[in-house]
Amino acid sequence: MWSNWSGNQSCDAQVQRPVGADAIRALLRDTTGVVRPVGAGHSFTPLVPGAGHLIAPAPAGDNPIRAIVQDRVRVDPNVSLKTLSEAMAAQGRAFRNLGDINVQTLAGATQTATHGTGRSLQCLAAEITGVQVIDGTGERVEIASEDLPGAQVALGLLGIVTEIEIRTVPAYNLRRRSGVRPIEELIGAMHDNWDTHRNYEFFLLPHSGKGVGIAHDPSDAPHGRPPADLDELGVFFLRAAGALCHVHPGLRRSAIRLLALVMSDEDYVGESWQVLCATRRTRFNEMEYHLPPDSARDVLAEITRLIETRHTDVWFPIEVRQTAGDDAWLSPFQNGPRVSVAVHMHARQVYEPYFRDCEAIFRAAGGRPHWGKLHSLARRDFEILYPDLPKFDALRARLDPRDRFLSPALAAWFRP
Ligand SMILES: Cc1cc2nc3c(=O)[nH]c(=O)nc-3n(C[C@H](O)[C@H](O)[C@H](O)COP(=O)(O)OP(=O)(O)OC[C@H]3O[C@@H](n4cnc5c(N)ncnc54)[C@H](O)[C@@H]3O)c2cc1C
Repeated sequence: MWSNWSGNQSCDAQVQRPVGADAIRALLRDTTGVVRPVGAGHSFTPLVPGAGHLIAPAPAGDNPIRAIVQDRVRVDPNVSLKTLSEAMAAQGRAFRNLGDINVQTLAGATQTATHGTGRSLQCLAAEITGVQVIDGTGERVEIASEDLPGAQVALGLLGIVTEIEIRTVPAYNLRRRSGVRPIEELIGAMHDNWDTHRNYEFFLLPHSGKGVGIAHDPSDAPHGRPPADLDELGVFFLRAAGALCHVHPGLRRSAIRLLALVMSDEDYVGESWQVLCATRRTRFNEMEYHLPPDSARDVLAEITRLIETRHTDVWFPIEVRQTAGDDAWLSPFQNGPRVSVAVHMHARQVYEPYFRDCEAIFRAAGGRPHWGKLHSLARRDFEILYPDLPKFDALRARLDPRDRFLSPALAAWFRP
């Protein structure tokens, strides 16, 4: 029995862990029906269930790095971003950017266009310069350069990814600074902050009038000691304050204001991959839409109003980031930068009514959903949002002519 991180997706199939390309080919040859690749199971959408066999390729050795040529590193993509970051650091290299956590596999993260934040920084998939897959016919295929934009973000529909070549940068240190600010200041200054800082993001704390801004900038200063995990402490406190609402709404507001007062500012320096990524222990479900940057201000005002009027039980922070554009056919960042707004509910809370109302706002603003996070879009919506979808369909038909990787849920989105 497999289930994802938040527990909202599950299926009966066992996860099989073939070692090496030949074992994956044999598994495809010796089975029938739908097979789905799986990484660390950190997607909320039905990308994995619906298959008789789940494949999570196992590492072939201790070192995931297969080759380094100038700034490009060829790796085993079926290990975690953390393992890869450590291996790269030993060679003086680093990912240019990373998201909030690093337990995902590189294959899983890139197949859904996982992103961090930074006005000039693209999503991880856009850094890919080469992809090797075992396709639906069991052939080992190095994706041709003209098809690469189709394979960078592909939801595991073109084959089991067995090697990725990715652009990297020399290892670097970042200074992390965070502080509590009024919501109006965070929203009003967001574009200036993206202009000023290498990485910038902010979280709005519902019912408080406050939020937390987080900036990362290159630094040569000595490493500092990371403070206690403020993200987790904050979430713990917000949850407890949320419960007070049932006693009296004013009590919650006072408790959250107190949190905002006692949350100390962070300021420390460390290796990029350690400073950018945190641990998320509190399980949640999430929806994230990537929006045209000019619409972000109005969308945030509408979401804040929604929480204060219709969804007063929401206590999880709203996360706001920006990612540079790229040209991958299924990238939500295709053809220009996007501001990403993410809403969350605790894994044991009912999330549908809140997410449904947020989604209406995101869609009216022209947003595209994160492939790994909850949404209700259908094939006709993707046809409008992704002009290169027909090219992707043609590539998928070539690499997986018998639909070995097409589960029923994915057929609803990807069968023309
Ligand atoms: C706590 C948490 C924090 C998160 N933070 C961020 C964030 O900061 N930024 C962001 O953008 N997203 C974030 N996400 C979403 C997450 O990065 C994506 O959903 C990502 O796809 C998960 O990677 P995974 O390794 O768990 O892959 P899975 O969820 O297991 O799989 C994702 C997709 O990749 C495919 N796949 C996996 N392995 C292979 C392979 N070898 N070959 C072909 N296809 C494969 C799967 O079939 C599936 O379609 C977060 C999710 C959680 C739960």
